[in-house]
Amino acid sequence: MGRRVWNKLLSLWEKHGWQSMLGHLSHTLAPERLGPSLTERIFWRADTDEPVVALSFDDGPHPTFTPRLLDILAKHKVPATFFLIGRYVKKHPHIAERIAADRHEIGNHTYHHRIMPLLPGRMLEHEIRTTHQLILDATGREAQLLRPPMGLFTRRTVDVTEACGYKTVVGDVYPRDPNLPGTERIVRRVLRRTRPGSLIILHDGGNTRMVDRSQTLTAVDRIIPELKRRGYRFVTLSKLIEKDKLSESIATGDS
Ligand SMILES: [Zn+2]
Repeated sequence: MGRRVWNKLLSLWEKHGWQSMLGHLSHTLAPERLGPSLTERIFWRADTDEPVVALSFDDGPHPTFTPRLLDILAKHKVPATFFLIGRYVKKHPHIAERIAADRHEIGNHTYHHRIMPLLPGRMLEHEIRTTHQLILDATGREAQLLRPPMGLFTRRTVDVTEACGYKTVVGDVYPRDPNLPGTERIVRRVLRRTRPGSLIILHDGGNTRMVDRSQTLTAVDRIIPELKRRGYRFVTLSKLIEKDKLSESIATGDS
């Protein structure tokens, strides 16, 4: 590890504590960037030269931050994809309904937000199917994309996910916003790593009572106009997957 990274970690530790330090370390290492070379069964980013990008938000619906985020997205007139936690859909079905009414895409983020590789098959299936039904009841939409909590999966969890009719989706740009690194840093991290076909991972909710997504929301309000200025178009995740040369060649039967 370089001296620069080490000094940065120390200063973050002093200023913001361990959570921010771990966030910086994991952002620097960025295992998500290695994703595309792992397996083609999981979608990380679209292989395309077109300046398209997708925003995605995890861990909602949240009664405070999701409506505020929807207002920001409406103001900028861009679509996004929301990976909803089943038990929060159950608690706030009207917010899930509004996400759908605002024409955003909805994905499944399991019922309890547990570590998928640690769950036995039947529980895993239950986590996915219960959430699927709750989303359907609240929004009338059949979700087809699933983001594993904390981005953790194994071959087995991907098998179960596919057996439930879902594609496993991660993303390639993740600024670690739940670690509360500050609005400035969230903006900078996203702008630095976004390229044509990127899938950006952010959070509008969370699984603790103390969750605060103000930094993320302020950052989104700045990221969207800046990416537009750089020529990017915002699309839903399904549209981004359609842009992927690989899935295109599978769909058309080309080799
Ligand atoms: Zn999550």
